[in-house]
Amino acid sequence: MERVWNFSAGPATLPVPVLEQVKEELLAYGDSGMSVLEMSHRSKWFAAIAEEAEYELRALLGIPESSKVLFLQGGASLQFAMIPMNLLGDGVGAYVVSGSWAKKALGEARKIGHSEPVWDGKDAEYRSLPELGSLDLPADAAYLHVTSNETIQGVEYPPDFEPAGGVPLIVDGSSNFLSRPLPMERYGVLYAGAQKNAAPAGLTIAIIREDLLERVPEGLPAMLDYRLQAENGSMYNTPPAFAIYVFMLVTRWLREEVRGLDHMHARNLDKAAALYSCIDESEGFYRGHAEPEFRSDMNVTFRLPTEELEKTFIAEGADNGMLELKGHRSVGGCRASIYNAMPSEGVEALRDFMEDFARRNG
Ligand code: PMP
Repeated sequence: MERVWNFSAGPATLPVPVLEQVKEELLAYGDSGMSVLEMSHRSKWFAAIAEEAEYELRALLGIPESSKVLFLQGGASLQFAMIPMNLLGDGVGAYVVSGSWAKKALGEARKIGHSEPVWDGKDAEYRSLPELGSLDLPADAAYLHVTSNETIQGVEYPPDFEPAGGVPLIVDGSSNFLSRPLPMERYGVLYAGAQKNAAPAGLTIAIIREDLLERVPEGLPAMLDYRLQAENGSMYNTPPAFAIYVFMLVTRWLREEVRGLDHMHARNLDKAAALYSCIDESEGFYRGHAEPEFRSDMNVTFRLPTEELEKTFIAEGADNGMLELKGHRSVGGCRASIYNAMPSEGVEALRDFMEDFARRNG
């Protein structure tokens, strides 16, 4: 069966060489005589997989020794609660409400303790982002929470965004994780549901500066306690073993085939530019949602002249082997998610289709 171009926002397309390797090793991994699907997470084979996954991730992002890497479950959505549970203390959680996901993060934090927005893009329909250095933070801010890429609205901070100044920066990097190099030394926590850029669903990665673990209060339920998870090397209970294995293969692919995050970033910039230039050259037929400066390299969001045309566009796209071009149900319109594993051929196919569709319907 032929593969389609899958523009899903997540779970999303994975690198074909990774899927091929999974297939090859599915019945028997290495000399184990069993599948990773069946393997004890305490076995020597799985221990080596988890170790390599962390090693490769540290090398790719340049994670300082002083930060812990945790492999967790519950999605980025559980991190919305774990961040305040573990790190808020008596302080105030400061949130940049840049779109739907940041809003959810703030909503969860408010159930735990005192948290408030320090910027809200709602009135401008979440088309832009603030300069972080210019924000007015509460004097007793425990941290500043930022969503580095809003998957639904398609807005993303430029790569080198301003440091927060003083308070730890907590970043929800779910939808642009490993898409470019990051200034890890600036981050207190970087967390990501891995099912967009890095793995199948089930794995959530949290990278936490070690000194922040001192804030973790006593008595949290075990699974929600960062310190306990760190002390147990993410193996307090059964981790999402198969997702960690695929994640390890993806990190290996990033190092061996892509040759690191600088190269990945360059590829991603080219892919995004191909679609945004098509939008800009369409004489208003396609209208991008984000302001140009804040356009996401991962989720390209756009509208057509009418909802009727949008429906036809999505249906014709599917007929032509381009799936999942529908915008999120909460905002409508169209969205093409072009994560790391989407090859430039897929983006070119979409661009050709968009040009042709505009010619026929403009
Ligand atoms: N944050 C962002 C930026 C996301 O895109 C998503 C998922 N679409 C989430 C959080 C929630 O992730 P999960 O489904 O893993 O809980």
